[in-house]
Amino acid sequence: MSAEIEQVPSPPAGTSNTLYVSNRPPLAPSPLVKLPIGSIRPKGWLLEQLELMRNGFTGRLPELSRFLGEDSGWITFKGPGWEEMPYWLKGYADLGYILKDPGIIAAAKKWLDLAFRSQQEDGFIGPPENRKGNDLWPNMLVLTCLQSLYEATGDERVLPFLGRYFRFEYNLPEQDLLPGSWQKLRGGENLESVYWLYNRTGEAFLLELARRIYERTADWESEIISPARDRNWEASGFYHGVNIAMGFRYPAVYYQQSRNRTLLDATERNYNLVMDLYGQQPGGMFGADENIRPGYGDPRQGAETCSMVEFMYSHEALLKITGETRHADRCEEIAFNSLPAAMTPDLRGLHYLTAPNLISCDSSGEHDFQNGGTLVSFDPWSYRCCQHNAAFGWPYFAEHLWLATSDNGLAAVLYAPSEVSARVGGGADIQVLEDTAYPFGDHIDFTVRTPEAVDFPLYLRIPDWAGHAAISINGKMVQDKLRPGLYARIRRGWTGGDRVRLSFSPEIRAKVWEKMGNSVSIRRGPLWFSLQIGEQWKRYGGTDAWPAYEVLPTTPWNYGLVVDPGRPEASISLADRKPPAGQPFTPEAAPITLKARARRLPGWKAEGRMVGKVPVGPVVSSEPEMEVTLIPMGCARLRIASFPLIVRK
Ligand SMILES: [Zn+2]
Repeated sequence: MSAEIEQVPSPPAGTSNTLYVSNRPPLAPSPLVKLPIGSIRPKGWLLEQLELMRNGFTGRLPELSRFLGEDSGWITFKGPGWEEMPYWLKGYADLGYILKDPGIIAAAKKWLDLAFRSQQEDGFIGPPENRKGNDLWPNMLVLTCLQSLYEATGDERVLPFLGRYFRFEYNLPEQDLLPGSWQKLRGGENLESVYWLYNRTGEAFLLELARRIYERTADWESEIISPARDRNWEASGFYHGVNIAMGFRYPAVYYQQSRNRTLLDATERNYNLVMDLYGQQPGGMFGADENIRPGYGDPRQGAETCSMVEFMYSHEALLKITGETRHADRCEEIAFNSLPAAMTPDLRGLHYLTAPNLISCDSSGEHDFQNGGTLVSFDPWSYRCCQHNAAFGWPYFAEHLWLATSDNGLAAVLYAPSEVSARVGGGADIQVLEDTAYPFGDHIDFTVRTPEAVDFPLYLRIPDWAGHAAISINGKMVQDKLRPGLYARIRRGWTGGDRVRLSFSPEIRAKVWEKMGNSVSIRRGPLWFSLQIGEQWKRYGGTDAWPAYEVLPTTPWNYGLVVDPGRPEASISLADRKPPAGQPFTPEAAPITLKARARRLPGWKAEGRMVGKVPVGPVVSSEPEMEVTLIPMGCARLRIASFPLIVRK
């Protein structure tokens, strides 16, 4: 039995998977294709997130949200019903399908049945009030809910229902299709759903509709950031953080139809443009405390929870379109380092803004954010959009751990403990068990289950940070010089019980952010690290069942790191490791901690309740050098993850 390992940038671009619904010509073939919901069973820490969601604010949001009451326009078909219900349903229903939870599936079906019933003669759906401005934005979210329903259950109503709705859109006079506001900025969501249906029915009018939708959507091909918009940032929908997290991918979505590769370049250019100015920080996000604001790019500005889940999804979508591993790296960076800190560990509360440097999650408005009022305290009742939209973050992440490949293989693209059932090769049904503590552990064990021998390519992503990665098969090392940023493709006649181990040897690295005062951040593998700060959880509101908390610091935070960025291992080392158990994203449960050398910087002070800007380094401190503990950023609700740099003499 011989194994063949090759490194490739993507599964082949010229062919299509023949076992799962893929892009139908003339759309460009997808190198990676989503498996139907239910194919992937999360395990370990990821399953824990989903189970906490079930019992947390997502699973019980109808008890909390005034937008999910009996007077919702999505129930009465009278009065208002906007984005909140479908934002929530998009994640809530998928949570039910992934967990195979009959209660959630039944509760979601009630809302979905109402969506079916809402369809009018001409195909319009949803609360009639949304017709007034031809506001199609909330319906774009409903479309994704129906796609999930179809993938999970094969509900026969879905395809004709979507077909009638897209006929309605097709028949709209041009000026009434995405006339303005959010729907115009977010039309690419609608575009994806049109392709989804086209791939299943092949009706030609859908491609014409897709072309019109793209042309009527705001221009995300041009550079997002410009001097003219800088001068008028408050007025530009292009500067809204959530819009950016969604909109930057739309040219790449339309590339599938136009086949014009400059659209892929436009998406990448705008990603880099935004990150270059506002993303000079660990955690994969960019600072947009509502909007990106010129002059407010430092790591205390914070990213809205909605922008995290939308940015993660955009990276998941780009991964399927391009096959390139960098999109998976970007998605994991947000999932492991930013998203967990946006919630309470029990997932029963959330906040609006999360920043790499955040020293007080209080309920005051004494922060220099664009919006006033409470934005960083944890509350199950507030934060209208995020409270609903956060629901799809972990479920969509779980649905994209494994993807089918264009050559009828299987790719492990995002890593987390899981089990996948999939059809491969000539049509054989197999399972692969993925056993790992990743991102907290350094190796991943895959076990193939198949009743008979089967040939298919297995793709394993080698992350961009992986300087040393090795693969052994059935205990025998077969490749120990894997290059980061590519896939390892293993072609082989697989038999039941075959085991593949992918192992990493992550180094501790120091990233210097030259544009942010030479501040320094520490990473090891997929995790970034922040100072361990004592947390006082103080209830300030809510109810006994659903309390709202401030999280206040009980230990000093104003440390600079004493580190040689070229040789961080000289002053930073692994302190403690333990297998993740329960909810790992807390300071106490952190499965991996580091020891570092630091000095206090008495001149670095809070501004109101907000951390001051990171002093420009290298800085000097006459305070004594001491040891501090660093924990994964995702485990910390109070954080310093971009440190002033103190050069070790
Ligand atoms: Zn939000």
